[in-house]
Amino acid sequence: MEKGHMIYEGKAKRVYEVIHSPETVIVEYKDDATAFNGAKHASLEGKGVLNLAISTIIFEWLKQAGIASHYIRTLSDREMLVRRVEIVPLEVVVRNRVAGSLAKRLGIAEGVTLTEPFVEWYYKNDDLGDPLVTEAHIRVLGVATPEILASLETQAQKINQVLRTNLHKAGIELVDAKFEFGLTQDGTLILADEISPDTCRFWDTSTEEKLDKDRFRRDLGGVMEAYQEILRRIKGVQA
Ligand code: UDP
Repeated sequence: MEKGHMIYEGKAKRVYEVIHSPETVIVEYKDDATAFNGAKHASLEGKGVLNLAISTIIFEWLKQAGIASHYIRTLSDREMLVRRVEIVPLEVVVRNRVAGSLAKRLGIAEGVTLTEPFVEWYYKNDDLGDPLVTEAHIRVLGVATPEILASLETQAQKINQVLRTNLHKAGIELVDAKFEFGLTQDGTLILADEISPDTCRFWDTSTEEKLDKDRFRRDLGGVMEAYQEILRRIKGVQA
């Protein structure tokens, strides 16, 4: 397999073509960390390696649970071979407990458990700061049909359940998670992007210690130690 040109560079990843394989791309995980729509930036040595290792384990769990994703296989400590998709410009956030922007928006304390996990939509647009959007807004924007939204919601709920079950075995509570989906050439909607402490809130089940990107956002220290701890714990989980 031959790595071709870089076709995209985002905040945390680079994407490369694969020569003679138009249906796949190589995703390279970087060490850059950003928060607050890029206003806070740092390079955290080894973050890309940890996030790739964590994402790999999670994508493998999902594969075993019969959930389709862009993941094909991991190639090196920073590179993952994935199916090429066209990303739906929505961040699909599933919440199990109140935290972050939901706590602020509703004035409810962080940590309150929701009776039922629910899905929120954020429009992926850096200029607008990824705003929360309603289904009507999504129709106006034309970024997803009601059928696609229904499928995104069902898939996100299913992924959330698989993640919660497996993370529980590792003493980790999934507070919330952000998923991104993409359409393959034949029009199938599959999970894409990464699933890591950058994109999920992970709390220690018994102490509720934060083991995710909130350590960076809120200057709590021990960011890489927390990511390392997540990897150490989930390595032992039998899906
Ligand atoms: N999230 C993300 N990327 C974003 C915004 C949020 O991965 O651009 C994740 C975040 O890590 C958390 C969940 O989505 O697990 C919900 O985030 P929230 O809306 O509470 O926003 P935040 O507090 O991160 O601004």
